[in-house]
Amino acid sequence: MMKINTPIKIAIFLSVFIFLFALILFYLADNQSDNVILFFLLLFFLITVSLIYYVVKRFFHEKIKVVYKNIYKFKGTSRLQDLDVENVEKEAEDWANQQEKQMKKLQTDENYRREFIGNVSHELKTPIFNIQGYVQTLLDGGIDDSDVNLKFLKRANKSVERMINIVEDLEVISKLETDKEELLVNKFDISLVAREAIDQLEMKANKSNISLVFSNESSTDFVMGDRDKIQQVFMNLISNSIKYGKDGGETRVRFFDMEDNMMIEVADNGIGIDEDSLSRLFERFYRVDKNRSREIGGTGLGLAIVKHIVEAHNQTINVRSTKDVGSTFSFILEKVK
Ligand code: ADP
Repeated sequence: MMKINTPIKIAIFLSVFIFLFALILFYLADNQSDNVILFFLLLFFLITVSLIYYVVKRFFHEKIKVVYKNIYKFKGTSRLQDLDVENVEKEAEDWANQQEKQMKKLQTDENYRREFIGNVSHELKTPIFNIQGYVQTLLDGGIDDSDVNLKFLKRANKSVERMINIVEDLEVISKLETDKEELLVNKFDISLVAREAIDQLEMKANKSNISLVFSNESSTDFVMGDRDKIQQVFMNLISNSIKYGKDGGETRVRFFDMEDNMMIEVADNGIGIDEDSLSRLFERFYRVDKNRSREIGGTGLGLAIVKHIVEAHNQTINVRSTKDVGSTFSFILEKVK
């Protein structure tokens, strides 16, 4: 049987049906009184309306409804109310846009994940191969050579330390990503936290002849935030200022008032960062000078962790830097009186 499922077939089917019906009525109405003709006209009108209603409902409404129901099932937002064709068009379009956005995001995430795994294995490979080389040399007789054995063991140990640094930083990042919502936000004394970080890094700073200076120029010592995580931010920023500082230099940790917020700054007069690198600084594993960073035990993850933590506080981390002059990292936190 021929299927009535295209606009032209439906139109022909409807026209033939109405035309035949009109013919029959026309034939029957011949020579009838006005009242009977009026009755036939009314009958013609009612049957035509019913027929068109049936066709529209059966061929359009019912089918659109099925499509709409499927979209609705995926969207899960609005409730399925009376079907309005214009609405369906808009909702289908919105839904398609939403799906497209989601797919693009999934693709970006997937690329990002792949790149990240590639970077992790690359970063771990170097120290592992180094260790393997030193151990092999020792096994091949180096162990009995007093000129070599201690030197190679120390080098292997340095590579192990590097691997530990990387794994520890990766663990911090992974924890930050898993417990995204789990910041322990409380009122805390940020001056105390900054001083603790400075105390812990004092020895390291002394080795490079760098002095650590702290001043609170804000009206309070108290802010809202996750104390331990902000401590980590200070540790990473201050330790960078030492790693990339100049012999005899200075790192200043300063707090300022910014209306209801406190601006926190860690500034150094170290080697600085060239303009091209500034925008990539907070990417995982990005280093301006890979060799220098590795030499001093850097992982390339410190600033990514800082960014993560500051953003979890709904703030942004900023950096100003001039090559050979110095760098200033800053962010804000909400003050508490
Ligand atoms: P790393 O473990 O290499 O220090 P980070 O993520 O902490 O990794 O920093 C990324 C890169 O940014 C560093 O390798 C360094 O090139 C640059 N950098 C970070 N802090 C400073 C700073 N205070 N002065 C100059 N360069 C810096």
